Amino acid sequence: MKPTEAASRYFKIEAVKALDDNHLRHSLRGAMDGLMSKRRATLANEEELQRLRTVCEGIRQHALSRLPELLEQLEDKLTELGVHVHYAEDKQEACTIIHQIAQAHEAKLMVKGKSMVSEEIHLNEFLAEQGVEAVESDMGEYILQLAHEKPTHIVMPAIHKTKDQVSELFHEHLGSPLTDDVDELIRVGRSALRDVYRQADLGLSGVNFAVAETGTLCLVENEGNGRLSTTVPPVHIAITGIEKVVAQLSDVVPLYSLLTRSAIGQNITTYFNMITGPRRHQELDGPQEMHLVLLDNGRTQAYADEQMRQTLQCIRCGACMNHCPVYTRVGGAAYGTTYPGPIGEIISPHLMGLDDTHDLPTASSLCGACAEVCPVRIPIPDLLIRLRTEAQRSPNEVVPHPIRGQGAAHSVSEQMAWRLFAGVSSHAFGYRLATQMATRLRALTPKRQLGWTQNHVPLRPAAKTLHQMVKEKNNT
Ligand code: SF4
Repeated sequence: MKPTEAASRYFKIEAVKALDDNHLRHSLRGAMDGLMSKRRATLANEEELQRLRTVCEGIRQHALSRLPELLEQLEDKLTELGVHVHYAEDKQEACTIIHQIAQAHEAKLMVKGKSMVSEEIHLNEFLAEQGVEAVESDMGEYILQLAHEKPTHIVMPAIHKTKDQVSELFHEHLGSPLTDDVDELIRVGRSALRDVYRQADLGLSGVNFAVAETGTLCLVENEGNGRLSTTVPPVHIAITGIEKVVAQLSDVVPLYSLLTRSAIGQNITTYFNMITGPRRHQELDGPQEMHLVLLDNGRTQAYADEQMRQTLQCIRCGACMNHCPVYTRVGGAAYGTTYPGPIGEIISPHLMGLDDTHDLPTASSLCGACAEVCPVRIPIPDLLIRLRTEAQRSPNEVVPHPIRGQGAAHSVSEQMAWRLFAGVSSHAFGYRLATQMATRLRALTPKRQLGWTQNHVPLRPAAKTLHQMVKEKNNT
């Protein structure tokens, strides 16, 4: 089964397989422990951390509250700077826009910096069908492209790969000798990409923050591949979700500070690119033409609902994934969606609809670790509960902000069971009668209880009701 099939079904099957893969679990555990301790070390000052989180949460909420206006301002500013701005309602439209730009330049080769949105729209596959080759230049993404795999983490796409696997891939595709020297592997990968930058007709990148005030597109990276992809080819195309806009340049400073520290415990990245249009008169480098594609693809559905809108505060640091007990055991491939882990569970239902994703919000223990580390304080567990409710709601119920696929997990028998439970529990006589019956008939408890008894002992009512126990205690 491929990840493009119903993500819910895919997740259930793949999570079981991943749990049986001891090698994967061992390497994920090591990697996540390392990331968690690095984050802790770099954010050791609790007071500073909470202060910064409040600032960043405020910046993101403020930007979202003015989103339509800021998008217009961004568009005007970018147009002034000579950038062509495009809006894409869905994946198909985004891919078509990019392909049209490629056609206008008779482009055959595109070099790509890291961009999760381009993964979201399956750009590489679309372009390949049109005869345009897209080569990933982020080392993790390049490794996955050689392996015909998808990223399993939003910050470290190839975190599930060991150095031996990378060495074998490079040996097979690039003819390099087998080695376990990481520096040597990076050197091999980089030299394979050098010519791609020079030969590419187009460069594509993502955007971390788009500043409405100045039209600046900020790009955070560590390898320099983002800078090369956006400056060497004659045409640069940036693509991002509509939610990435912030009001002013000064907003970027605290967001950047928390983004890098939350992601991998790094105080600052090696490169921080601030792109303000194509090459100007008498400048010696930079693209001659520049485009920005702003993608909706379900984001306005989240935006329409005040609670769900908080999903769009995300700055894609990946900290929620690194701390999630489900993600750290099954890894990102099991989710079958572009964004795995807690952020994926709350954004994928908007991008793909609940029909395909209604099981994802249940892939959480609701322990709250994700919300505790989220730099912009997204209340992820609350949003998960809300999405579970929307999936269970009757598909025919009229609500102010319906979610695509509302009622995908709706079950009449389950609804009736809960109604019965609520009815009995809210009346003293009914509650007493039900609990007394349960204690008396406990010997009849079934030994198999749906999925619960696959991993747990059967649930059995206690020998005495709580009221009986309290009464006995008070009498002693
Ligand atoms: S939800 Fe929060 S923790 Fe998770 S990726 Fe987004 S900003 Fe980071």
